[in-house]
Amino acid sequence: MTFEPKLELHLHLEGAAPPAFIRQLAAEKGIVLDGVFDAAGSYVYNDFEGFLKVYEAATQVLRSPEDFARLTTAVLEQSRAQGVIYTEAFLSPDFCGGRDLSAWRDYLAAIFEAAAAVDGIEMRGIVTCIRHFGPEAARETARCAAETAGDVVTGFGMGGNEGLYRAADFAPAFAAAGEAGLGLTSHAGEFGGPESVRETLDHLKVTRVGHGVRASEDPALLRRIVDEGIHLEVCPGSNVVLGVYPKIDAHPVDMLRREGVPLSISTDDPPFFHTTLPQEYDTLAATFGWGTDDFRAVNRMAAEAAFCDEATRAALLARLEP
Ligand SMILES: [Zn+2]
Repeated sequence: MTFEPKLELHLHLEGAAPPAFIRQLAAEKGIVLDGVFDAAGSYVYNDFEGFLKVYEAATQVLRSPEDFARLTTAVLEQSRAQGVIYTEAFLSPDFCGGRDLSAWRDYLAAIFEAAAAVDGIEMRGIVTCIRHFGPEAARETARCAAETAGDVVTGFGMGGNEGLYRAADFAPAFAAAGEAGLGLTSHAGEFGGPESVRETLDHLKVTRVGHGVRASEDPALLRRIVDEGIHLEVCPGSNVVLGVYPKIDAHPVDMLRREGVPLSISTDDPPFFHTTLPQEYDTLAATFGWGTDDFRAVNRMAAEAAFCDEATRAALLARLEP
């Protein structure tokens, strides 16, 4: 299934790091990465805990604005080769200067200078706080987001361990980011159930939810999502690899689409989940019989929910005309 052009709304910049790039950077810095790669050079782990360890080990080699500039180039070239013309990347001030505003500005400048140099694909940044670091760190992250909001930093989001804290604890951070004009999204309804999605909608005022697929277990919540036009950033391959669903046949993405839920398809941390966006499309085509019209529809929904200016949105929608 080779539908193009593609839009991707849920991609963690560090999580998209090609293994060859991380190996090269580690070699340059003399950092030894044990147990991170298999013989073929892919990221290797056995379970969720192993995934987190490998993710942390691989990303610890990224230490400077220059490293993130090179990462951005590698990731965007990888996405462009897969037919992606527009991508929104989660960027974390925790990894980029430790939530220090001045350091964060330096990282951002390097990241978006690199992004501007890659033709044929546009990137916007969603500044992302890490839930398990707690509400105070989230407020500092929101401050970094609000101070740098503009043409390229267009969103604020939250990832991390969904089992810790309550959504309401992060309401001040999201309110501050929203006041700065940023689009709002939060991971929820991945490892947490429908209640986690409901609390996220109630307290964080998001227009999009990262994953959100567990909302499929609650018909009343699904109706609310459809009525309010909440967009779900669905990452089927990620959910299967991390065990949210045992296999793709059990994934609710097709049911959600038939229920009229606005959604798009993304890869989350693609090389860690041994996937690509074309591979996700192939799987959906093979499993649920999705064809060109379905992929055009999900990409149109991505354009409609994108955190971008209206001129960019119109241009993206025009590219998706048959
Ligand atoms: Zn994610």
